[in-house]
Amino acid sequence: MQPTSLRNSAPSERAGRFYAYLTVVIAAALAVAAPFLADVPSAAAEAPVAFWLMAVLALVLDTRPFVTPGPRQSAAVYPSVCFVFAIMLMWGLGLAVVTLVALVAAHAWLHGRSATRTAFNLGQYVASFGVAHGVLAGLGGLPLLPVGWRQVAVLALAAAAWFVTSHLLVSTAIWLRFGGDWRRIVRRSAGYEALSWIGLLLLAPLVVAAADQSTWLVPLVVAPLYAAHRAARLSQEHEQLALLDSLTGLANRKALRLRIDSEIAGHVERVARHAASRAGATGEAPERLLALLLLDLDRFKDVNDTLGHGVGDRLLVEVAHRLSREADPDHVVARLGGDEFAILAPDLDEAAAMKLGQRIGLLLSEPVQLDGMPLDVHSSIGVVTYPEQGEDYATLMRHAEVAMYQAKARGDTVATYLPEADHHTAERLGLLGELRHALESPRDSGIELYYQPQVAIASGEVVAVEALLRWRHPERGNINPEELIRIAEHSAVMRLLTFHVLGEVTRQLAAWAAEGLVVRAAVNVSVRDLHAPDFADHLAALLDDHQLKAAQVQLEITEGALMADPRRVLATLRRLDELGVALSLDDFGTGYSSMLHLRRLPLAEVKIDRSFVLGMANDDDDASIVRSIIELAGALGLRVVAEGVEDERTWRRLAAQGCHVAQGWFYARPMPAGELPGWLAQYRPPRLLRSASRADVAT
Ligand code: C2E
Ligand code: MG
Ligand code: MG
Repeated sequence: MQPTSLRNSAPSERAGRFYAYLTVVIAAALAVAAPFLADVPSAAAEAPVAFWLMAVLALVLDTRPFVTPGPRQSAAVYPSVCFVFAIMLMWGLGLAVVTLVALVAAHAWLHGRSATRTAFNLGQYVASFGVAHGVLAGLGGLPLLPVGWRQVAVLALAAAAWFVTSHLLVSTAIWLRFGGDWRRIVRRSAGYEALSWIGLLLLAPLVVAAADQSTWLVPLVVAPLYAAHRAARLSQEHEQLALLDSLTGLANRKALRLRIDSEIAGHVERVARHAASRAGATGEAPERLLALLLLDLDRFKDVNDTLGHGVGDRLLVEVAHRLSREADPDHVVARLGGDEFAILAPDLDEAAAMKLGQRIGLLLSEPVQLDGMPLDVHSSIGVVTYPEQGEDYATLMRHAEVAMYQAKARGDTVATYLPEADHHTAERLGLLGELRHALESPRDSGIELYYQPQVAIASGEVVAVEALLRWRHPERGNINPEELIRIAEHSAVMRLLTFHVLGEVTRQLAAWAAEGLVVRAAVNVSVRDLHAPDFADHLAALLDDHQLKAAQVQLEITEGALMADPRRVLATLRRLDELGVALSLDDFGTGYSSMLHLRRLPLAEVKIDRSFVLGMANDDDDASIVRSIIELAGALGLRVVAEGVEDERTWRRLAAQGCHVAQGWFYARPMPAGELPGWLAQYRPPRLLRSASRADVAT
């Protein structure tokens, strides 16, 4: 019979074969035991106290079997085997078989085992002891006492024969009952089981030797048995704990990895077997689908930072509950750390996995009630399938991550892996690495700051310069600063970049001051820079080092980023205000500022976003937005700067509306630091003719 043919056979056919096998095993066991059963009544009548003691100890020990690790739940190792073997060695196979009957019956009664299983176990044990007895008797191992080297060698052989018989009988039964690969079933946990069973069997001669000395030495064997049992159990518990996430009780990253590895190994083996079998030439390869969904929560960090870790943890637990509820029992739901979760679905194709992702996205978008407060969580989910999008754990995970970021970037809930997107990501990561490298040794790295003048509209006086980042990459050429900031902003490189810019600007201001040019510089900072508690101190130290007044540096923060969570940076903003460093709200009009925040935050100016300024000459909507921003800022006592002033017409309109400062190509493009003194020297303020400005505004 070909092992592989069984996998495809109908259940009824399988059951028939199993029962035939069961009958053979029991018949063989009976045949082995029968010759020895005749002596049992007289042997039992004469049996000393030691026999009864061993039988009772065996019964007691069996209530706590050793359970082997691995997928085979039923693979328990019974410590009683040690006493049954000792009984066989001292009083023969007959009494050992009777003890076995009592043990198996008690076990079946205690655990509600089926008659079939009970009958099989009895047959299996009786046959195994029969084979061991045969080896001992045949090779001159009996009687055991006095023990010589020959007895010891034969004992070891008998124990090995016992294990081989028992293991093959059980493996074959499992194979006949449930199908699968016979060799794989035999190999599964064979090492551990051999060690446990043979170890217990070889304890029996010691029990015999002890009983020969004194019956009361026999119970002492229980102590080391119990110790071994506890140790095995503890190590198993530890092993299980090492696979669990302690906060949510879900599987952890290691558990997910093991499961993916084993699913893939199973698939590879099936494909190989299929190719080797006759069906390989004609039939289709065995299909096994595997989908992996990777998700993280959008803005979880904000929850953690603003509401505390306690609330963050409870949110994660709730998310774990929701995921577990939606997943099937045979899916693995795992928490990989932080706010990252994964679901391994061993039965879904891509379309079904995308649907599951959609359902999960929907489920997670329902607000979570924590302390009676609804909390909105959204998630981005990346979906990959095996083997199309990765043939091993590492590739699948990496591609799932790319898909997840793709979902985030597009504002979708779910996305699958697209190699084009990956290319993009790899390129971005490469650029980030190069930027870090450039910042670590900035000399000749191509990183430079350009400065663009800001001019007071009414007087025409240059009031400040804005420092703007430029990076001429040796191979890629000029890198768009906005793109660069977007890439760097979510990484540790941003801090390096900002500190580099601040260092460079303060150094430049000091150098200009030494030439007699005192000017204020505006520096763009990312709102994430302000999360660092040492930001203000760092800036204060730089000002101190270069003997600059705090008023010479102004910081620009974009409105959208600041208003997303103004409370978070309030401490840093206050500290900067105390220092005397002014703050400007950049790209104003693109975010959603509340009046309250505008009033409460220590701001000095707002910069109207250049999209409105660029459009105001031709677009009435833009023009009215600019006008209302100027009025609003005026009412709040803030300075208003218009950036992106490209032409005279725009400049005139801004002047007529009372805008304070203008910046743009109309005056000057951003220029290298070395060009600024020359530009200033030849700069002539544009003349604002009253009549011209009135006429222009009137049109
Ligand atoms: P931003 O702070 O709003 O800077 C103003 C942008 O407008 C600059 O773009 C400037 O070159 C451009 N600009 C100035 N005048 C005109 C004009 O008349 N017409 C037009 N069309 N554009 C004008 P740039 O230099 O490409 O910088 C883009 C953005 O990158 C900046 O916007 C800022 O948000 C960011 N950025 C630049 N340097 C840094 C930096 O050192 N750190 C940080 N965190 N962000 C920076
Ligand atoms: Mg700016
Ligand atoms: Mg701007």
